[in-house]
Amino acid sequence: MADSLPPVVERIHEEVLRRNPAEPEFHQAVREVLESLAVVLSRHGEYTEMKTVERICEPERQVIFRVPWQDDSGEVQINRGFRVEFNSALGPYKGGLRFHPSVNLGIVKFLGFEQVFKNALTGMPIGGGKGGSDFDPKGRSDAEVMRFCQSFMTELYRHLGEYTDVPAGDIGVGSREIGYLFGQYKRITNRYESGVITGKGLGWGGALVRTEATGYGAAFFAEAMMETAGESFDGRRVTVSGSGNVAVYAIEKVHQLGGTVVACSDSSGYVVDEKGIDLEVLKQVKEVERARIGEYAERVGSASFVAGGSVWDVPCDVAIPSATQNELDGDAAAVLARSGCRYVVEGANMPATPDAVRVFREAGVAFAPGKAANAGGVATSALEMQQNASRDRWTFEHTEARLEEIMRGIHERCHATAEEYGSPGDLVLGANVAGFLQVAEAVHAHGLV
Ligand code: GLU
Repeated sequence: MADSLPPVVERIHEEVLRRNPAEPEFHQAVREVLESLAVVLSRHGEYTEMKTVERICEPERQVIFRVPWQDDSGEVQINRGFRVEFNSALGPYKGGLRFHPSVNLGIVKFLGFEQVFKNALTGMPIGGGKGGSDFDPKGRSDAEVMRFCQSFMTELYRHLGEYTDVPAGDIGVGSREIGYLFGQYKRITNRYESGVITGKGLGWGGALVRTEATGYGAAFFAEAMMETAGESFDGRRVTVSGSGNVAVYAIEKVHQLGGTVVACSDSSGYVVDEKGIDLEVLKQVKEVERARIGEYAERVGSASFVAGGSVWDVPCDVAIPSATQNELDGDAAAVLARSGCRYVVEGANMPATPDAVRVFREAGVAFAPGKAANAGGVATSALEMQQNASRDRWTFEHTEARLEEIMRGIHERCHATAEEYGSPGDLVLGANVAGFLQVAEAVHAHGLV
């Protein structure tokens, strides 16, 4: 990452830092976008004059609320809920809810900001937002999770609507939580408003492929990158961090496309399985039993478990970081580059630190930012909304074909934009510029709002 920003964006950056103190992840996400925008502003004087970038960096609305609930022992618990409605120029606010103890306003703002550009890149009519809570679902019973979700929605519902704001899942929010949240929304409003939330169960308005979409999408994106260089997944060694929803389905699709995923991880360590990760076992351990990844190695003879440590120590051709923000730092990036890794594709939101991105750039490792590579999840959410609006239901094959088409379209657009703006091969610049232009054009057309 450049040490100093061009003056035209430096002023905007300083203003964002001043106005949003102590939000390092948000600062990081904004800075990364601003670094790409000097070339755009030199071509579009109207965006400087109308302070379009400044307006896009300021959320339209930020909601913080109390979430009281009772645990199984009868003790009262209090959490904090958030919804940042970042930008609605392209459609209703759209973005997931994250339940994790690390959640705070700065994290939600960084995720919401990324979501604005990501959603624009999908080409679907969705604005950007994000929400969540510092509630930790780990170790909580189903009944506790349900009571928490009901309390959370009792406050959040007034801000939602299929034409207003449409949440979905993220870390800590899967189909169980979406069910409880939708049930409470329906009960309070007395409306079966399917399009108010996505990631729903298949029997009550959900879409086929939504569960798989983020991971599948990242694999499709990686394949498109490799094809540009005349390569493919065939025979490639791949490592994936995480073992949640994104990781599991990235692994599944990489295997279908001819690659072999030899390692994956969770917060307790990583497993290596030279035969390729056995998905049946992984899903059983992580999704059904909600157990630690070490359990995988207990059950699969060809696997070994490394407690703690970094999954990036395992040599690979392609790395797909799919756990959480800033999980891959400069040192890990240097290890990856030295071991011969040629492609890094972000399955999570901003998993690579600015240092890591710089290392990849200098080492000639092709790098895809999350706002492009992991857009498959939210794109398929938009397909779910489309099916809800038309009271229709698409087949798996049709939906997957649409997802692949969207991911290839995003890659093509990022690639072409990078070339047009003088940085061929730089998908970070391509994603930021293409996403920004789409949003800025709409913001500008809507007048001073
Ligand atoms: N949480 C996912 C993301 O980071 C999906 C959001 C959605 O489907 O609205 O893009």
